[in-house]
Order: sequence, then C-alpha cells, then structure tokens
Amino acid sequence: MKKIILASDNAHKLEEFRRYFREAEIPLEIIPLRESGFSDDIVEDGATFEENALIKARTVSVATGCMAIADDSGLEVDALGGAPGVLSARYAGVHGDDNANNEKLLKELEGVPTEKRTARFVSAVCVYRRDGEYLTVRGTAEGLILSAKQGNGTFGYDPLFYYPPFGKTFAELTGSEKNGVSHRGNALSLLMKKRDFFLK
Ligand code: IMP
Repeated sequence: MKKIILASDNAHKLEEFRRYFREAEIPLEIIPLRESGFSDDIVEDGATFEENALIKARTVSVATGCMAIADDSGLEVDALGGAPGVLSARYAGVHGDDNANNEKLLKELEGVPTEKRTARFVSAVCVYRRDGEYLTVRGTAEGLILSAKQGNGTFGYDPLFYYPPFGKTFAELTGSEKNGVSHRGNALSLLMKKRDFFLK
C-alpha cells in the first residue's frame, strides 16, 4: 500500500487520522513521524494554521522523500480576540501542557457569561507530494467554552469545548462521533473530495 507520513508526534492526532482513513477506506498507510526516520525539530513560525501545516508537511516530505500530511490546529475564542489561535499548543508557556493550557483559558474567561464564550476549533491539513505539489484545506467546529472540564477522553481543550448539537464536550464523544463533526474530520472530508491529488 502507498505510504504517507503524518508529520506529528501527537498520538491522539495519529489515532484520529488512522480512524478517519480506515472508516473512509482510504488506501494509504499512515506512518507515524517517529517511525519515519525523521527526528529534527520543526520550527512552526507561520502566522496562520495553513502556513504551519505547510511548513510541517513540506519539511518532513523533503527530508524523507515520502509524501507527508500535517495538521496544524487550535482553538479560537471570540471573547479573547481569537486567542490562543496558532499558539494553542503552548498557550501557558510549555508546548503540549494540556492541563496548564486549560487552566489558563479558564482564568482568562473568568466572569465571561455563557453566551459570550463562543469558540471554534480550526484545523488546516496539508498534503505535500514528492514532486513538490501540495494541497491545503481548512475545517472548523463551532462550540462554547465551559467553566469547568467535562469528560476525560482525547486531549487538549476537548474537556472544555462544549458542542451544542450533541449536548456534550468533545472529550465525551467516541472517536467516530468526534471525527464526524470535528475541525480535523471536516478538513479531512474536504481533502477526500480531492483524493485524486494524492491517491493517483
Ligand atoms: P499543533 O499540534 O501545533 O497543531 O497544536 C494543536 C494544539 O491545539 C493542541 O496542542 C491542542 O491544544 C489544540 N487542539 C487542536 N486540535 C484539538 C482537538 O481536537 N482537541 C483539543 N485540542 C485541540
């Protein structure tokens, strides 16, 4: 089977991508970054999710000679002017410290009433081919930020992200439910409409 490297060390993202590809019957084997032979640090200094997704996918594809896919994602909170945005992974200072990030978010939103706690997850997904051609898509999911965590599945801001159509947070959804409505799932669905780009 043709291979594609996922330019991420995030085990949750890997699981979401693998589930999506399996359920959508995409004939591509996803190789985790740590098994690809690539071990350099990637400097994500883009100003947008799209720029960062391209930086990650291009860096890994050029270094390995294999097609790569990357997601750059984060949370935009309206009452905070779109923060944490592209800085979502390191909002509280340390990259990937989900607890600290959630605590900081709750603090910043102290006193903000429910109706003003609107937010969206954003995911830009980039596929970078060996010939240097690439494609980027964006998916979003709209919700509200709770004032206390609810549920403990998955990662990041999921326990604080309430999704009104389901009456649950993203941390309370099954993997298939989350992929069906999430920012990453929506981005991947758009990508699948252009599947000739990376399957042919
Ligand atoms: P990235 O790995 O640089 O794209 O950073 C993404 C960050 O955004 C993560 O560390 C999380 O804090 C947040 N994030 C992105 N997608 C999700 C999600 O599906 N659930 C919860 N948090 C997410």
